[in-house]
Amino acid sequence: MKIGEVLISAEEIDAKLAEMGAAITEDYRGKDLILIGILKGAFVVMADLARHIDLPVEVDFMAISSYGSATKSSGVVRILKDLDQEIEGRHVLIVEDIVDTGLTIQYLLKNLWVRKPASLSLAALLVKDGIDRPPLDVKYEGFRIPPKFVIGYGLDFNGKYRNLPYIAVVEDEE
Ligand code: 5GP
Repeated sequence: MKIGEVLISAEEIDAKLAEMGAAITEDYRGKDLILIGILKGAFVVMADLARHIDLPVEVDFMAISSYGSATKSSGVVRILKDLDQEIEGRHVLIVEDIVDTGLTIQYLLKNLWVRKPASLSLAALLVKDGIDRPPLDVKYEGFRIPPKFVIGYGLDFNGKYRNLPYIAVVEDEE
């Protein structure tokens, strides 16, 4: 595998997360907000976005694994680690690295609504364009990217490259 073109630089990501964090700060002022990161991919976005939110938020994580191939989502999700806390009556913001088919997030939204949060919204750093997906309201959206497999900033290729500070395409998948 080769790291291809850099689609989004570290500086561009930071500027966008600052904007998203400012919007979240405005929208949730005075509310009891809990951020839920979806592991493993969202660990980097969570760390950086949370520091751009000027509110006393709580954070929690869910770890999920998607059945299906390494690079294609099936929408059938297994919860490997559930939340540590109850979300009933609380304002919940899911923090995702990327929305591709939207199947993972659709499953999660269904799963979390059952727990009766006061509100449930979605922040995603990346949303892939040109993908046929069910209607999905991404309240805080970072960047639209072409429907290519990308790595970096939490996103992996066979478990590696999550630590790249930028988003790049994969040039040669062999
Ligand atoms: P979805 O269910 O929306 O198709 O995919 C959600 C998950 O698939 C993401 O949270 C991410 O873990 C993985 N994924 C989707 N597209 C990409 C990509 O371009 N690169 C990487 N590394 N993972 C992706």
